Amino acid sequence: MVSSQFQTVGCILFTQGLVSSYSGNLSIRQGHHLLITHRGSALGSIKEADLVETGIAKNNRATPLASSELAVHRAIYKNTSALAVVHAHPPYAVALAFIEKEIIPCDLEGRALLPKVPILGKEMVVKAGALAEEIAEALKQCKVVLVQSHGSFAIGQLLEEACYYTTVLEQSCRLLYLLKVLGVEPKRYTSQGT
Ligand SMILES: [Zn+2]
Repeated sequence: MVSSQFQTVGCILFTQGLVSSYSGNLSIRQGHHLLITHRGSALGSIKEADLVETGIAKNNRATPLASSELAVHRAIYKNTSALAVVHAHPPYAVALAFIEKEIIPCDLEGRALLPKVPILGKEMVVKAGALAEEIAEALKQCKVVLVQSHGSFAIGQLLEEACYYTTVLEQSCRLLYLLKVLGVEPKRYTSQGT
């Protein structure tokens, strides 16, 4: 059942604190359509009725029910080869996005999977659905991007893959944060730790 992958990933994101009760959204591509979580749905307890099918390029009767980030999901499918998109609010990543120009993970897993994570929307008040084209453009070069004061957008061939990149980003950002608190320079840590 298609909804089981939404439920699995929604549960991971919620239990790991990467979305709040009614935030974040997920979608998968189905040809010229996408299946996306309902506006305001609770990712921790997704039901079949929480999924909305609409066009990537065209609206239908269900379109108004789709997540408020629909424009971003559509732009990503129009401009990349992604088959799945995960949008979350990972707290350590969002916090670092306020002070960094980009995220450069210093841990082994982060460096291997996400060598450089761009941060978009600097000095902007970002509304839901904003920066769609910029996010899609950035995702041609990487697996996940951050939008300042908002959250992350990750892509994959499966929802599980995009969820994995989201969790790797947050783990890397948590480590970067802890190193900052300890006064350890991440670059020095990297050269000694390899
Ligand atoms: Zn959001």
